[in-house]
Amino acid sequence: MAPKVDRFVSPGKGNGLRATANIRRGELVYSAEPQAACVSNKWAKNVCHHCFSRHETLLRCSQCKMARYCNITCQKLAWPVHKSECKCLRSVLPRIPTDSVRLAARIVFALAIEMTQYKLGSSKGNGEELYTLEEHESHLSSLCEQKREGLSQLASMLQLYLQEEVSALDQVVSSLPPSCQDPMSLMAKVTCNCFTISDAELQEIGVGLYPSLSLLNHDCGPNCVMVFEGTKLHLRAIKDIELGDELTISYIDSMALTDDRRKQLEEQYHFTCCCQRCDSRDMDALMASGEEATCCLLKDALPRLDGLKAESNWPELLDLCKELLSKAGSSFPAENLSKLKVTDVALDACIQLGLWEEALEFGLKTLPVYRCYFPDPHPVHGIQLMRVGKLQHFLEHITDALDTFKQAYEILKVTHGDAHPLTSELKMKMEECRCELNQ
Ligand SMILES: [Zn+2]
Ligand SMILES: [Zn+2]
Ligand SMILES: [Zn+2]
Repeated sequence: MAPKVDRFVSPGKGNGLRATANIRRGELVYSAEPQAACVSNKWAKNVCHHCFSRHETLLRCSQCKMARYCNITCQKLAWPVHKSECKCLRSVLPRIPTDSVRLAARIVFALAIEMTQYKLGSSKGNGEELYTLEEHESHLSSLCEQKREGLSQLASMLQLYLQEEVSALDQVVSSLPPSCQDPMSLMAKVTCNCFTISDAELQEIGVGLYPSLSLLNHDCGPNCVMVFEGTKLHLRAIKDIELGDELTISYIDSMALTDDRRKQLEEQYHFTCCCQRCDSRDMDALMASGEEATCCLLKDALPRLDGLKAESNWPELLDLCKELLSKAGSSFPAENLSKLKVTDVALDACIQLGLWEEALEFGLKTLPVYRCYFPDPHPVHGIQLMRVGKLQHFLEHITDALDTFKQAYEILKVTHGDAHPLTSELKMKMEECRCELNQ
């Protein structure tokens, strides 16, 4: 464990992490590899199941035909854990268990390997973890009937999935603390505590368990953010933090109304947020601004946009966005969250359709709004700037592109740090712009 953090009891919140030194904005606070991680089913064909990098074509495991890898090296490195997984996957074919079930199974496989290494005396031990699976909350007792039912289905799926390896795993499972032996409780712990792993473009490509970082509590205006590099998780400070201060992240999309954020946190994480932003209903009025009938029109259309996006029906999606935006009219406030969402979706659709000029127009409209809603550096804002900068660069608006890239860099050097591959890519783009301007 890095010396900058330690575990403590946060008043009213239970376990938490706090700073054991003054930490400056932009500093790396903590890095962790997952105890277990898996690529989500949705991305299974395009993301390496070992290093989590994205490729058009990948090598396929000849046995389960599910796991895919960049190359033989990744496949070999993945084999110790995949060996058990591969057997289990084959046993339930053509069904593929859900992401959370596959992750829970991978945790069991990882524990089995740890135990063998421990017996052989080659284990480094688990002493550096601040938090163990046993201590993870399951919230089982406070779940509503419907959620319990869902969880019990996942637990049965986990049992069925692990059946093939049961004899090999028996010893492991029986040596786990009772709260981790019961499939229902294990599934509950996994679903409450797993992290979504996203790639550089913030696509959600997998799930993982990072025990020590499960201690981090939520704040709608947090002092830290998490970014990934493959499966490695980096926790970075986006504000100056003083010795003794609690470290916080946002569990959810912070661009939402207070009531919506609170509802999501209650349903998904079982607590009521009492952070400063929630108490003061910070920016709610601005996020919901605009004439009411139009607000409703835009908000009610969002599920349809999501549906068309899921179908990759870009032409229809773009038509619908344009229709909505023209109905709202240009004087309708850009700060309205639904309007922002529609504009963002229109940007995606234009990029998919190769309509670069239009894409840039939509992108530019979103930037002042992002700036307003992200007063602290945030990956979402940095990446939006980078997308717009790339469009400007492609359309040969070089001076504008360089300016946008510079703004993106001010954010990414804090949220990602100078050594992150995304920051390197951005610096290269800036260099290209400078060369082109000098010519
Ligand atoms: Zn790989
Ligand atoms: Zn396989
Ligand atoms: Zn809050």
